[in-house]
Amino acid sequence: MEYWQKELETISRENLEKFQLEKLQQTIRQAANSPFYKQRFKESGITPSDIRSLEDLKNIPFTTKEDLRNSYPYGMAAIPLRKCVRIHSSSGTTGNPTVVLHSAKDLDQWANQVARCMYMVGLRDTDIFQNTSGYGMFTGGLGFQYGAERLGALTVPAAAGNTKRQIKFIKDFGTTCLHIIPSYATRLAEVMYEMGIDPRKDTKLHTVCIGAEPHSEEQRRRIEELLGVKAYNCFGMSEMNGPGVAFECPEQNGLHIWEDYTIVEIIDPVTLQPVPDGQVGELVLTTINREAMPLLRYRTRDLTCILPGDCPCGRTHKRLARFKGRSDDMIILKGVNLFPIQIEKILMNFKELGSNYLITLETVGNSDEMFIDVELSELFTDDYSVLQRLTKEITRQLKDELLLTPRLKLVAKGSLPTQDGKAVRVKDLRKTI
Ligand code: ADP
Ligand code: ZN
Repeated sequence: MEYWQKELETISRENLEKFQLEKLQQTIRQAANSPFYKQRFKESGITPSDIRSLEDLKNIPFTTKEDLRNSYPYGMAAIPLRKCVRIHSSSGTTGNPTVVLHSAKDLDQWANQVARCMYMVGLRDTDIFQNTSGYGMFTGGLGFQYGAERLGALTVPAAAGNTKRQIKFIKDFGTTCLHIIPSYATRLAEVMYEMGIDPRKDTKLHTVCIGAEPHSEEQRRRIEELLGVKAYNCFGMSEMNGPGVAFECPEQNGLHIWEDYTIVEIIDPVTLQPVPDGQVGELVLTTINREAMPLLRYRTRDLTCILPGDCPCGRTHKRLARFKGRSDDMIILKGVNLFPIQIEKILMNFKELGSNYLITLETVGNSDEMFIDVELSELFTDDYSVLQRLTKEITRQLKDELLLTPRLKLVAKGSLPTQDGKAVRVKDLRKTI
């Protein structure tokens, strides 16, 4: 099967909206079977027949992560458990984890969705696809696994960690494509160079799918250069299946969000009102083709915007801008609001710097300060006056961007902790937050 689903991917807005309304009405009837939505609909006096247009979706209350936690484990199930075939769950660091249930049909749809994304960026059954995500409850593992198999690629389910083994597989199996977290992609490349392997010449890599954490355009370009590949931004979250929700096309200018799978809204997180295209707000998603656990107007807490205009690739599904982070990633320091990604954007422009950095917020005397430790790249000098000049220049650029002056420290390569999972970029040690 070809995974360029031309009719669906280039559908006219009018036909898409007809399609969405039909699927939305089905979804709402389905959702009403779950204990959670049964109660929700009762409280808000909504019956499925009240939803007569896409506009009417706005009358349904939002669903939050808290709602998911409170209905742990099965309160959101809209079909009997014997018809469910898999559970995924996301980290339960604060209270109950969130659980997502899937039927066999849900999993089948999800595999199609991921296969469609991979096909879009040029991957075919001739590719050898290595997945460096953790398997198990984390959706980046099985999600990409089944998508890549659906596409017909030869899959290498390497899973997370063990960098030397990843590199051996890449070389020995002739891996052409990786799914990898951006912070780990730069680390993997650095280890290759340390081992005397030039990934641009000594491997067959041509494509990487990077996602699961916010990253800057500068970080993407760095990954592309280091590995000699095209890197495509992929967005997903367990609550919305996992990978495949939105993905860049070959234009690398925004992520197409598959509107035959989800209805997308962007709202102002304070007023909860919709914001116009081009304006950043919180992404709110409604599943329209899930049966085991539909989610209506789910507040993702992710901040992005809809890019106005059509995509030259011909696909009509809306494009989301690169993610700014989550509303809870925002740092407020000395009354200034900022996101770690703004800092990364500046650091990645300096060839003298490596890819690993750590932002620490700390109370010094009576004031809160930002400390940024960033690793130098291996090739760089240890000449003190050169380093001093460099520190000054980076600090100046950071100050221009952030409107406050961080205390920057250039540290030797390899001196900051590295992780296999999502990178922790911020440590908040402030006494009063
Ligand atoms: P957890 O909540 O445990 O991290 P997930 O693995 O489901 O669980 O993570 C989903 C989240 O990861 C998204 O809500 C988003 O914040 C982040 N994320 C995923 N892909 C991207 C991406 N391409 N760019 C920025 N952030 C991303
Ligand atoms: Zn496109």
